[in-house]
Amino acid sequence: MYLNEELKKILGEKIVFSNQMDRSVYRTDIGHLVEGMPEVVVVPRTTEDVRKVVIFANEKGTPVTIRGGGTTWNGESVSNGGILMDMKGMNKVIEYNVKEKWVTAEAGMTWIKLYQYLKEHDLSFRSAPDNLVSTVGGSISTCGYGFHCTKYGSLADHVLGLEVVLPDGKVLQRGPKEIGMRMYGADPLPLFLSGYGTFGIITKATFRCYSYDERSPSHLVGLLYNKFEIEDAVEDMLLMSKNCNPDILYFGSTTPEFQMMYKDMLIEEAHKLGCTYKRKIPLMVQLYSAYLRKFGKKTPSRFNFVFAGYDGMDNKKKLRCVKSASRGNALYEFSVDDEYLVRGRALWRIFTQKGAIPCFSDCVVPASCAGEMIRFGITELEKNGFNQIALYGLLTQNKSAIGIGFYTGLPLDRVSEYEGVRKKIAEKVVKFGGVIYKYGGIRKNTAKESIGEGYNLMHLLKNKLDPNDILNRGVLF
Ligand SMILES: Cc1cc2nc3c(=O)[nH]c(=O)nc-3n(C[C@H](O)[C@H](O)[C@H](O)COP(=O)(O)OP(=O)(O)OC[C@H]3O[C@@H](n4cnc5c(N)ncnc54)[C@H](O)[C@@H]3O)c2cc1C
Repeated sequence: MYLNEELKKILGEKIVFSNQMDRSVYRTDIGHLVEGMPEVVVVPRTTEDVRKVVIFANEKGTPVTIRGGGTTWNGESVSNGGILMDMKGMNKVIEYNVKEKWVTAEAGMTWIKLYQYLKEHDLSFRSAPDNLVSTVGGSISTCGYGFHCTKYGSLADHVLGLEVVLPDGKVLQRGPKEIGMRMYGADPLPLFLSGYGTFGIITKATFRCYSYDERSPSHLVGLLYNKFEIEDAVEDMLLMSKNCNPDILYFGSTTPEFQMMYKDMLIEEAHKLGCTYKRKIPLMVQLYSAYLRKFGKKTPSRFNFVFAGYDGMDNKKKLRCVKSASRGNALYEFSVDDEYLVRGRALWRIFTQKGAIPCFSDCVVPASCAGEMIRFGITELEKNGFNQIALYGLLTQNKSAIGIGFYTGLPLDRVSEYEGVRKKIAEKVVKFGGVIYKYGGIRKNTAKESIGEGYNLMHLLKNKLDPNDILNRGVLF
């Protein structure tokens, strides 16, 4: 009997797909770098469906690839034969509690859907990827982070519990600490919170929430720099972090062209959402307008900025902030009002422009080398003619590290060239004692360097939990 027929017998007709057209939807991911076709696609609706697939796959030795939104870009959710499990069929909120402030959602729910659901119930999350079309399960599995992680931590810090189907079909339903996820010491890379689906399939997740009104820091001090002295911006940021303890420390180095494109898309998306330009101006639009007001025609090819944000900023704090950041030659005050949606949508549009693919080289380096790291990244990229690049980073308070993303619309015919530059940047990151943030799929050779000691332990655990190597074969090991 064919694989699809056997699966239909176990799961019913409705959630098993095997014709060419259905399967070709999953041919690649947002990165377009890796291609592959599953033999069968299953869209589970329940944990029991997932369990049945895994048990069946073990009996047959058939590999299973897990797919959320498919918005990672290194082939982490692309399958070559075998079964692809599209988790987006599990997309409901199971339970929420306004008083105790938590929500349990199915893993295939997108952040945008969860955001809207929670808003209706006067709740919100505090840490999610900027990319709101990714799924809860996919983000947890890749240790997602967002704009507010400086104060509120990464997604992992908000997870109160998980339901996971293990490779042998057993279902775990416990709190994060109990399932031994934090097993690698001070800065762990836990099994499920960044396991890329290698150790189990997340079916449900419980998150800590906040009431909608206290959802995010709402006041920001913005410093603009018209010279390309990224070290100044980083120096300011370190001073701010030390002296006035902001909730957000966000910085970037960007080009006017990129800002202009971003601005147009932000305004459009803000309008679509019914936010008028005057009343609710998204943050990056304010930044760009402030920049133009200050520097006008003397626009350099690139400019830098730092934002320091507070949960309601009093004057004392602001003053301390200004004093410590003496290098910034322009200072503006911004108010952020529910810009999660607008920013998420606009960002998405930039990276899905016709004829271009998104490429990222996210990494985390110690704060002390952030300036040097960014300068190196920009110099390398510009030297090779990749000019349309914006870099953003966050200084996290407790981890003292900076995440850097290189974003650009990269024409397909320059992908391999870009790969060379990316490799150089990655080598520098490791030299600085940092880690490459996304390390699955075709980047799995960086996993060992990134994870360090924990890598061998993870490998041992993989062999123990999944002796037939059923789940996400080749994604990490
Ligand atoms: C425009 C853009 C902006 C982005 N911004 C951010 C950002 O701000 N922060 C950030 O962290 N990332 C960001 N990303 C990267 C990416 O979106 C995230 O990693 C995202 O959270 C992945 O979720 P997904 O649902 O698309 O997962 P997928 O790409 O489908 O899967 C990712 C990995 O997780 C596994 N997986 C998926 N679902 C499950 C599950 N239920 N159980 C177990 N394993 C599973 C897959 O097998 C795969 O290995 C961005 C990407 C784009 C394109």
